[in-house]
Amino acid sequence: MKKIEHLGIAVKDIEKSNAVFASLFGKEHYKIEEVASEGVKTSFFMCGPNKIELLEATKPDSPIAKFIEKKGEGIHHIAFAVDDIHAEIERLKGEGFTVLNEIPKKGADNKIIAFLHPKTTNGVLIELCQDAE
Ligand code: ZN
Repeated sequence: MKKIEHLGIAVKDIEKSNAVFASLFGKEHYKIEEVASEGVKTSFFMCGPNKIELLEATKPDSPIAKFIEKKGEGIHHIAFAVDDIHAEIERLKGEGFTVLNEIPKKGADNKIIAFLHPKTTNGVLIELCQDAE
C-alpha cells in the first residue's frame, strides 16, 4: 500500500454536508458522482494533498444507509492507494484478512476498488483503490 487515498464519511444529506465541508475547507467539492451499483452518491473535496469523500445513500438497502442506521453519520472507511489491486488482494488474503470483493469493482472517481471486512481490521472498513485505466 502506498498512502491514504481518501477518507470516506457517511452523511445523511450530501447537499447539506457539501456546504459544511466547503466552509470547513474554504473551497467547494470538485466532483459529485453517483455509483448506482452501490446505491451511493459521492462528493469529493481536496484539502491540500488529502482527499475527502462524502457518501449519501440513494436507496434504503445501500451499505451507507445501513451504516448510518447502526452507527450514525461519521467516518465510514479509509481508502489506501495500491498499484496492483489484484496482487494486494491475494497478499492480504494470504495474511488472513477477509476481502469483501475478491473481484475488484468500479468505484467513484475513476478507481477500481475492493473492501476488507472490518472484523479483520480492528473495526475499520478499509478500501483498496487503484487508478482505473
Ligand atoms: Zn472511498
